[in-house]
Amino acid sequence: MKAYFLDLYRGAVSLLDGMLVTLQALFSPVVTEQYPRRAAVLSPHFRGSLKLARDGQGQLLCTACGLCARSCPSTCLSVQGEKPAGAGRKFPATFVYDISRCSFCGTCVTGCPFGAVVFTPVRTRVSASRDAFLLELCPGAEEPFRPHT
Ligand code: SF4
Ligand code: SF4
Repeated sequence: MKAYFLDLYRGAVSLLDGMLVTLQALFSPVVTEQYPRRAAVLSPHFRGSLKLARDGQGQLLCTACGLCARSCPSTCLSVQGEKPAGAGRKFPATFVYDISRCSFCGTCVTGCPFGAVVFTPVRTRVSASRDAFLLELCPGAEEPFRPHT
């Protein structure tokens, strides 16, 4: 009989303990984001999808040197360049970025001698197809690669 009431007592204490935790959570400041109804405020240092940077005249800064592709630990970059007639340097003809393999380590961004590849805040990319994660960062690229948006 004594054990029975002891169990009842312990059960009631445990129940009150749980309710206390719930009550504390009820009156604590909200820390969760109501995504996607309200987008999270991102840090300026957030690392999202890569893009190629341009100079003040709108020219791509990339010289297609391939340094980023060689230093990427996940081998997710593939760069090929060409030198347009009259241009003093090479420009990327194709710059393929496999975002499905990217760990957002930043090696390509910090290692580029021209600051030509940068992170963007773009973080939502969903598809059932692997091909959708192969992004062509060069404008005007041919299919099957989609232009980066
Ligand atoms: S992004 Fe930078 S490191 Fe990569 S190919 Fe272009 S210039 Fe070279
Ligand atoms: S962020 Fe890292 S993993 Fe992603 S492309 Fe650049 S070097 Fe490769």
